[in-house]
Amino acid sequence: MCIKTYLPALIVLATCQQALPQDFGQLRAEMVSQQLEPRGINHTPTLEAMRKVERHRFVPPACQQDAYRDTPLPIGYGQTISQPFMVAMMTQLLQPGPDDRILEIGTGSGYQAAILAEMTGEVYTMEIIPQLGAKAKQLLSELGYRNVTVIVGDGYNGWAEKAPYDAIIVTAAPEEVPPPLIAQLKEGGKIIVPIGAQTEEQTLVLIEKRNGELVKTALIPVRFVPFTRSKDMP
Ligand code: SAH
Repeated sequence: MCIKTYLPALIVLATCQQALPQDFGQLRAEMVSQQLEPRGINHTPTLEAMRKVERHRFVPPACQQDAYRDTPLPIGYGQTISQPFMVAMMTQLLQPGPDDRILEIGTGSGYQAAILAEMTGEVYTMEIIPQLGAKAKQLLSELGYRNVTVIVGDGYNGWAEKAPYDAIIVTAAPEEVPPPLIAQLKEGGKIIVPIGAQTEEQTLVLIEKRNGELVKTALIPVRFVPFTRSKDMP
């Protein structure tokens, strides 16, 4: 069972009750052809990764039958794996090159990191909840991803050890872009980040560093889990 204790998550829980055996490969192909391609996802490496990576491995067993529906799902600790379309769109916006070094803030289940790892050189992904970080690390290793490093820590500070990054993707919503992330972005690099308080509408923002200047483009309204800080943790 995906046990949750608060209302929004109960709504998510309600989507995790089917128990029919499914052909996950077929469902994954349909996810791409019915949910992603018709909505403008056309970046070939993104589509290939979405066809290949087994999203059902990244969700709790009771939610596996729903893994290829266009919905976020609970992954424990009050967190969610983003809906497939959002993962695909953010990946397509970043368009990682084959030799790029990417930093992700918000490992969660590890699914977005796996999608990125399919098409790029190195992925560094940070998770503030130790149990989620440990679980994602184990799964990504079991699945054979040698180019993903999971770091447990507060992503506000980024990961200076491997900076600068060609691209940074943030999958929890801060109210402002953490300055260390901007400092750790390469010239010509991109950050994709949902910005906004939990009580307000959040906006997905693309930030490009050009000649040392930041060029910001507001994209679409979105809803992500909060970007938390170590000091806020229980
Ligand atoms: N990308 C994930 C979904 C992430 S949900 C996936 O593919 O499954 C957002 C995650 O960000 C949560 O797991 C949350 O714990 C984490 N998070 C929130 N604030 C953070 C911070 N300051 N540093 C690192 N991780 C953070």
